[in-house]
Amino acid sequence: MKALCWQGKHEISVKTVNDPRILNPHDAIIRVTQAAICGSDLHLYNGYIPTMEKGDVMGHETMGEIVEVGPKVKNRKVGEKIVIPFDIACGSCSFCKQDEFSFCDNTNPNTALANTLYDHGGSALFGYSHLYGGYAGGQAEYIRVPFVDTNSLAIPAGVPDEKVLFLSDIFPTGFMAAENANIKRGDTVAIWGAGPVGLMAIKSAFLLGAERVISIDHYSGRLKMARDAGAHVVNFEDIHGILDEINYLTGGKGPDSCIDAVGLEAHGSTVTAVLDRAKTTVGIGTDRPDALRQAIQACKKGGYVSVPGVYGGLLDNLPFGAAFGKGLNFKMGQTHTQKYMKPLLDRILADEIDPSFVITHRIKIEDGPQAYKSFNEKKDDFVKVVIQMN
Ligand code: NAD
Ligand code: ZN
Repeated sequence: MKALCWQGKHEISVKTVNDPRILNPHDAIIRVTQAAICGSDLHLYNGYIPTMEKGDVMGHETMGEIVEVGPKVKNRKVGEKIVIPFDIACGSCSFCKQDEFSFCDNTNPNTALANTLYDHGGSALFGYSHLYGGYAGGQAEYIRVPFVDTNSLAIPAGVPDEKVLFLSDIFPTGFMAAENANIKRGDTVAIWGAGPVGLMAIKSAFLLGAERVISIDHYSGRLKMARDAGAHVVNFEDIHGILDEINYLTGGKGPDSCIDAVGLEAHGSTVTAVLDRAKTTVGIGTDRPDALRQAIQACKKGGYVSVPGVYGGLLDNLPFGAAFGKGLNFKMGQTHTQKYMKPLLDRILADEIDPSFVITHRIKIEDGPQAYKSFNEKKDDFVKVVIQMN
């Protein structure tokens, strides 16, 4: 089959690789109909996540049709259309039983490796390095889904793929980010990053009752989408200081909650951002956490900082004194996608939201390598690219 494969930093190629096979009795094989490229894939593309190997199949935002099931699969059958969550869960460990699927104890065969970094490693992820299990991803014609009873959501016939594809990741991620921000009716929420995750967080914050959302980025196309989603937008390149601006917008109080939907590759020209870039360039730094610093600094006393943005290693110069002094609450992590898929499908079917609004590009798999490059450079107003497999 054809697949988009990681070849090294800044190099993705279309390769012919072996078709996946059923390996375990709870597996299913899916013929992929649509897959998307995620901001998280760019961390692999840019070489920030260790343990990628040449030839690894990319992709964790995937849907398709079941073509084969293992002998112990109970709830899924051949011919069903499913969306696949990006995190891989067993469905039966103590974490899965508490709906904490991305903490699954059983699916990552390389936990020893993850434990050296995190002491307690999380679940495996599709197409996301050997640290996260080394599973082949879904930017391919076919994908093997382990524990498919847990790792799938059946889609009713007649619903267009594009409306439900993002249940695989960015919609649950934006929604969990808003939930983690403890939004109450009437709140003001500031969201760093107006990429797909930030945009889903804006929509979700309003669904959860926020009165005002402030969206911060520096790409006009993305900020336009954020404005269309109802946010007050701030282009951080057009103003003097982001913290002054947010204080001004909140009457000096600070937002009730702050969401960092940027993660470890923040842009910017503050002193700390420039330092981060220098350190990561020469290999003495792991992350560029400037958005997180600003979120902590901006937040009101006793407020909530929610971090869907991905971080990998040791973060320098975090204003932890400010966090302590203001008694901030923190929540973060990989999304427990399986927990959110069904309730969010219901919101889509009830016409509360159509997540396909983020799509700016539709391509064939052959155009994948160029799409990675353009998405990374945020060329042509790239926000979200969908790979159409059929
Ligand atoms: P993206 O790269 O498309 O968007 C990131 C946006 O942040 C860009 O528009 C960029 O201009 C903006 N940005 C950069 N520096 C900024 C700054 N200093 N202030 C304000 N905005 C800034 O990525 P995405 O797909 O939207 O994903 C966002 C983050 O969420 C990534 O780190 C991704 O890995 C992560 N993510 C996490 C999960 C999870 O389970 N927690 C799931 C999906 C994605
Ligand atoms: Zn993702």
